[in-house]
Amino acid sequence: AKAAGRNALRFFDPQMQTAVNARMALEGDLRQALQLGEFCLHYQPQVGDGGRITGAEALLRWRHPQRGMVAPAAFIPLAEESGLILALGRWVLETACAQLLAWAAKPATARLSLAVNVSARQMRHPGFVDEVLATLARSGANPARLKLELTESLLVDDVEVTIAKMTALKASGLGFSLDDFGTGYSSLSYLKRLPLEQLKIDQSFVADVLTDPNDAAIVRTIVALGQSLGLSVMAEGVETQAQREFLFHHGCRAYQGYLFSRPLSAEQFDAFIAAR
Ligand code: C2E
Ligand code: CA
Ligand code: CA
Ligand code: CA
Repeated sequence: AKAAGRNALRFFDPQMQTAVNARMALEGDLRQALQLGEFCLHYQPQVGDGGRITGAEALLRWRHPQRGMVAPAAFIPLAEESGLILALGRWVLETACAQLLAWAAKPATARLSLAVNVSARQMRHPGFVDEVLATLARSGANPARLKLELTESLLVDDVEVTIAKMTALKASGLGFSLDDFGTGYSSLSYLKRLPLEQLKIDQSFVADVLTDPNDAAIVRTIVALGQSLGLSVMAEGVETQAQREFLFHHGCRAYQGYLFSRPLSAEQFDAFIAAR
């Protein structure tokens, strides 16, 4: 009875009510932000062998009129729960395709690939494959330049359906990268069946790779696994030259992180490429 009483009290906790109100306000703001054009994409360079820029990852930003630049961690989870991620994801994909087309027009950027994050909720949507293909066709962007980053959370879904969707998209030239690899529930038997091109080592392993022997072992294992499955392996969150050297020494040949560049606006990204 005591526990129930405490719960009942909690229900009317003014602090909790404030949190609920804040959440509802944020959800309303999110919906509006899409209409008002407050979202933008930033582009973080991806680096290959010898420091060559091979492409970028598109990262969503919200330019909130009062709160300033809002990081995706503050709104993506809510967008996923509310279903708004579907509309937001469409906007991201359209914007990314337009960016690819703009890059295609200039020799310095024509060969770059662009990685786009796709949440499990988007991938689960029955119209996803048709939408992606239609968006690509409408934009005129080259599908071979587009890479979709998926997370392991999608492997709790019907894996046959996921494989069928990936295969259909791959047939049009798109590539797939498995994001945050090592943090989820990947089963090795699924891994070999997914039509992937790349594993992305989660930045949590990269961060302490030089000081934590467990993280070092995990990184070496992921690189070896990728190699034996014929996949490229990209490390994210590379911040220091020493981390890069460790990764290189163990066979990782693709990198992303502050060592090379923070995520940049489209204009900054063009300037970054031009300066090299
Ligand atoms: P993610 O896909 O793992 O993206 C990498 C995150 O690491 C980005 O955070 C990036 O800014 C950050 N980062 C890059 N290099 C470094 C580094 O050297 N050190 C550190 N400490 N961090 C680094 P960001 O931009 O805040 O994005 C957070 C997450 O939000 C992303 O994680 C992704 O899961 C999600 N997200 C971003 N954009 C989209 C999107 O368009 N759609 C969906 N569904 N999710 C997105
Ligand atoms: Ca990502
Ligand atoms: Ca990641
Ligand atoms: Ca991550």
